[in-house]
Amino acid sequence: MPLTPEQQAEIEEQRAHPQPTLRAVAPGMEKHLYTAHQVLDHGLVRVIDYMGDDNAITQAARVSYGRGTKSVSNDEGLIRYLMRHWHSTPFEMCEVKFHVKLPVFVARQWIRHRTANVNEYSARYSILDREFYIPAPEQLAAQSTVNNQGRGAVLEGAEAARVLDLLREDAMRSYDNYEQMLSQDGQQGLARELARMNLPANIYTQWYWKVDLHNLFHFLRLRADAHAQFEIRAFAEVMCAITRDWVPYAYAAFEDYRLGGTQLSGKGVAILKRRLAGETVTAENSGLSKGEWREFAAIWGEN
Ligand SMILES: Cc1cc2nc3c(=O)[nH]c(=O)nc-3n(C[C@H](O)[C@H](O)[C@H](O)COP(=O)(O)OP(=O)(O)OC[C@H]3O[C@@H](n4cnc5c(N)ncnc54)[C@H](O)[C@@H]3O)c2cc1C
Repeated sequence: MPLTPEQQAEIEEQRAHPQPTLRAVAPGMEKHLYTAHQVLDHGLVRVIDYMGDDNAITQAARVSYGRGTKSVSNDEGLIRYLMRHWHSTPFEMCEVKFHVKLPVFVARQWIRHRTANVNEYSARYSILDREFYIPAPEQLAAQSTVNNQGRGAVLEGAEAARVLDLLREDAMRSYDNYEQMLSQDGQQGLARELARMNLPANIYTQWYWKVDLHNLFHFLRLRADAHAQFEIRAFAEVMCAITRDWVPYAYAAFEDYRLGGTQLSGKGVAILKRRLAGETVTAENSGLSKGEWREFAAIWGEN
C-alpha cells in the first residue's frame, strides 16, 4: 500500500467531516475525494478537490442564470454536440486537483502537458523516501522489433531474474549512497539538492496536479491510448475511471468521439468513397505511404 497508516488516518479524518455547501456537487466524485487509488507498486492517484459537474458544462454553454436544464436528454445531447464540434471552452468550466505519486521517469512524460498547474514535492527541502518502481514480471519486456517506441515479448527465466536483480541492486545502492552523503554523522552532510542527483529515474516523486476538464481529456486521450507507455497509461486509466464517475455525460461523449472515434485524412476519406463505390483499393493504388496504409487498415481491423 502506498500510504502509511498515519496518512490513511488523515484521509479518513478529512472524509469524516463533510461540510454543507451551495456549490454543485457531483455524487460520483464525492466518493473519490481524498481516497487513494493505488497505481503501479508504490504510486497513487487521489482527488483533492474538484469544481463543476456535467451541468456546469451545459450551464456555461447556455450562459444561463440557474441550472438552465431543459431536460436530462437535452443536456446529454448538448454535451455530445459540444464534444463533436470541438466547442471546448464549456468543458474548461470544470476543474480537478489530483495528488499523484509517480516514478520520476513517468513524471518526465507527464510534465510535458503544459496546460495544468503543478506543485512537486521538493527534494531540495525534504528527503526522498526509499521507494522505487520495479516492474511486475509481466511488464519486463524486450525492445519491440516493429515499434522503436515500444515493448515486445516478455523477458523470461534467467534474463528476467537478472534484470530484476540489477534494478533492485542499483536502486538500493544509490539510495544507500544518498543517505551516506546526507548524513551529518561526523561530517557536514551534502545539501539535499545535490545529494539527490545520484538517484535513478525509477524513484518516486509526488505532486499536486490541477487541470480543467478540456485539458484533462486531451491528456487522457494521449496517455490512456495503447501507444502510451504502460506506466503512464496505468495512471491515465485510473483517472479515466474517476472522470467517468465525476462527469458521466461528458466522459461518455469523450469516450465515443475521442477514445472510440478516429480521424481521417483527405486521402483516407477518398479511399473510403472509392471502396463504397465498389472499387478494390490496395496499399499500392491507395496513394498512402506504407505507414499511413498500415494505420488506415488497422482502423478497420485489416492486416
Ligand atoms: C505516444 C507519445 C509519444 C511521445 N514521444 C515524444 C518524444 O519522443 N519526444 C518528446 O519530446 N515528446 C514526446 N511526446 C510528448 C508530446 O510531443 C507532447 O509534448 C505531449 O503529449 C504534450 O502534448 P500537448 O503539447 O498537446 O499538451 P499540453 O502542453 O497540455 O498542451 C495542450 C495544447 O495547448 C496548446 N499549447 C500549450 N502550450 C503551448 C505553447 N507553448 N505554444 C503553442 N501551443 C501550446 C497546444 O495546442 C497543445 O496541443 C510524446 C507523447 C506521446 C503521447
